[in-house]
Amino acid sequence: AKKLGKDQAQVFDVAFIERMNQNWMLEQELQRYLEEDAIQVAFQPIYSVTAKRIVGVEALARWSHAVRGNISPGVFIPIAEEAGLIGALGAQVMRRGCREVAAWNEAWGVSLFLSVNVSAKQFADAGLLAAIHSMAGECGLGAELIHLEITESVLLMDDVAVERTLMEARGYGMGISLDDFGTGYSSLSYLLNLPVDEIKIDRSFINDLHLDPRRVELVRAVLTLGQTLGKRVVAEGVEREDQLEILHGLGCEFVQGYLISRPLESEAMNDLLGMVGKA
Ligand code: C2E
Ligand code: CA
Ligand code: CA
Ligand code: CA
Repeated sequence: AKKLGKDQAQVFDVAFIERMNQNWMLEQELQRYLEEDAIQVAFQPIYSVTAKRIVGVEALARWSHAVRGNISPGVFIPIAEEAGLIGALGAQVMRRGCREVAAWNEAWGVSLFLSVNVSAKQFADAGLLAAIHSMAGECGLGAELIHLEITESVLLMDDVAVERTLMEARGYGMGISLDDFGTGYSSLSYLLNLPVDEIKIDRSFINDLHLDPRRVELVRAVLTLGQTLGKRVVAEGVEREDQLEILHGLGCEFVQGYLISRPLESEAMNDLLGMVGKA
């Protein structure tokens, strides 16, 4: 038993060191991809159930590695945050996003908004909002069409600095969206105290909507809360027709998920907009 214990400890150490090495290698390679402007962006439509049209898109970072294939954001976003690369990554996603959405709005005569995920780490950069604002301006995209998606990890940081940054965003006319709503702890006080315009109900609440009446009541409660406080509500991760029907019945106006469309590369997104534009 003693020997086995020793072996196990050794196996653990090797696995640990391998993981460290792996992360270090990914970090180096991510840096190289960023330097070469080779991180891609996928776009997922956000759909208005009442207007029956796409009203905006969420930009999602994509890393297609020449040797390792597609690496999930769930893997490389934390690495980017740890390695101090999230600012550069976020800027690339924002620049690409602004450019594409401005072109689509022009080409198809629409005014889609662009939602971009902003990590807590990026909030430490005092120049963040001015940089985003000038990027949007260079592309001819109105700042009011920029939505910043933040999670509660942002709100857990230094209150004063966060509030200042959020007020700065509001000053530019940008929208603030509270992502993954319901998965953190103190969302309710934030809704009262901070300038949040939109709530995105986390996918985990939508998953079993068609199976679990309690979840329906929970979503109904969030919708009421949003309505009372004057916030838009988006349901994330809508995959099934019956989920959409329930959400429609509850008066949820905005939905996002595989049922409407998976995240698409820009060319496919452009084709989709052309198709729905003509319909
Ligand atoms: P998120 O912001 O909650 O983004 C939604 C995630 O749900 C995306 O995963 C999207 O592909 C996925 N999704 C959308 N609809 C459905 C559905 O109907 N069913 C299911 N099962 N999944 C759906 P993705 O692209 O893998 O991104 C994962 C997370 O990585 C994002 O979660 C976000 O937190 C982070 N992320 C992605 N891009 C960026 C970025 O540019 N910057 C930052 N800071 N974070 C990013
Ligand atoms: Ca998001
Ligand atoms: Ca989310
Ligand atoms: Ca998430």
